[in-house]
Amino acid sequence: MKIVPFAASLLLLLSMFHVNAQEKTDKEKLLTTFHSISSNEILGYVEELSAPQYKGRLSGSPEYMAAAEWCAGKFREWGIQPANNGSYFQFFKNEYSEVPSLGEVIYSNGDNKRTLKFPDEYLPGSNSASGTVDANLVYVGYGITAPELDYDDYKNVDVKGKIIVLESGIPYTKNDTTMAKWTPYAYHRYKFRNAVKHGAAGMIYTNLTANPNTVNIDGFVYAHVSPDLIGQIFSDAGKDYAETQKQLQNGEIPSFAFGAGQKIKITAQTKYFPDARSCNVVGMIEGSDPVLKEEVIIIGGHLDGQGQLGDVAFPSALDNGSGVADILGAAKAFASSEIKPERSILFILIGGEECGLYGSKYYAENPLFPITKTRLMINLDMVGNGTGFFLTGGKTYVDLYRHFETANEAWIHRKLQTNAVTKNYGRPRSDASNFENAGIPTFSLWTSGSVYPVYYHHPKDKTDVLTPEIMEDAAKLLYLGVMGIANEGGN
Ligand SMILES: [Zn+2]
Repeated sequence: MKIVPFAASLLLLLSMFHVNAQEKTDKEKLLTTFHSISSNEILGYVEELSAPQYKGRLSGSPEYMAAAEWCAGKFREWGIQPANNGSYFQFFKNEYSEVPSLGEVIYSNGDNKRTLKFPDEYLPGSNSASGTVDANLVYVGYGITAPELDYDDYKNVDVKGKIIVLESGIPYTKNDTTMAKWTPYAYHRYKFRNAVKHGAAGMIYTNLTANPNTVNIDGFVYAHVSPDLIGQIFSDAGKDYAETQKQLQNGEIPSFAFGAGQKIKITAQTKYFPDARSCNVVGMIEGSDPVLKEEVIIIGGHLDGQGQLGDVAFPSALDNGSGVADILGAAKAFASSEIKPERSILFILIGGEECGLYGSKYYAENPLFPITKTRLMINLDMVGNGTGFFLTGGKTYVDLYRHFETANEAWIHRKLQTNAVTKNYGRPRSDASNFENAGIPTFSLWTSGSVYPVYYHHPKDKTDVLTPEIMEDAAKLLYLGVMGIANEGGN
């Protein structure tokens, strides 16, 4: 029963490569390269990128640059050409902060003191100022002041000289045009600046996620704390945290000052580099067809990670050493392939994603190939822990998607899901959105069916929570799917 569809998809796959009489030969060539893609090698790439010397690949830092140079070295070794006027690097401005010490966070309620433990109870702020704040606490919900939306989290409270307790997010979650009005208020940077404008002395963020996508403001010290601590602070004040969150989500303003005996002391040590720069790593394979080579398919994913706090690195293995390693696996295959892509292929390892999508924004504004000649951008983020794939956008770009679907059905046999592109009205959360907004058809690839826990932005995001065999299959899917698009309608 399975033979007929299998044979049909095999024929479709082979028809992409315009093989008739030499059908077997070209198929063999393709499969030789396909089978050369190795999970062992790809895992090795993530092991390299997660190594301590790169200190979590914080965009802008010298250690990020060292990781970028290592990747460029791989491109050079495989004969992949520099794509930016003879250079593998595309530079842009990228301020960052170094966090040489874990600092300290102490909560006290009268005589009771609780010194928080790293990383389960607190994380130092990636862009905190250096110094110590010791003050009473005020809950400010989302920390938004939006007069045109008749909304102000600060309207009933005085935060001058106080430490605010802040939530991420906005009081609207439906993805529609109303959401667009709230977008400017969804940025961490906005919330920090608004807090300082209201005179706050410091801040504790209620989400325990290391996040360089914030802003270093002179004198503004902050840290992330666990939901458990927030629960305690609320109950010490005779309040119910879950109830307060519900009010907030209903559009109410539950802001209030905690008890006079309740204080937080945050000590932070950081070093700010306001004039730093970072880069995308760009390598290309020029198409073999004299006309079609003007068109390009982009395969990209962010190279940067969450950096290092004190002596503790965030290896950023799944997010996104895995995506970069899959791309390298595919790049090596394309470079050694006897079947040549007729359209050009650009590999872009993106910087500054964790800081606020800097690298993809820079590329969209300074593209290396004309946007109109860019057939597809496929973005990989967190593609290394699971048993299946999700490739977004296939129901919108059916003609592009079928190449991946066919390859999967014929040779890879993983669960492959897709959807239609939906316009995103909120804060863009992925590099893919910068390419899509520039007018490039864009797919995002990630793994589904996690085998191991996902330690998102956490020191435990190491190579031991990756499934190498799905990474091999991701690189194989890229190789066959992108080759199909590169050679469609060619000679
Ligand atoms: Zn990521």
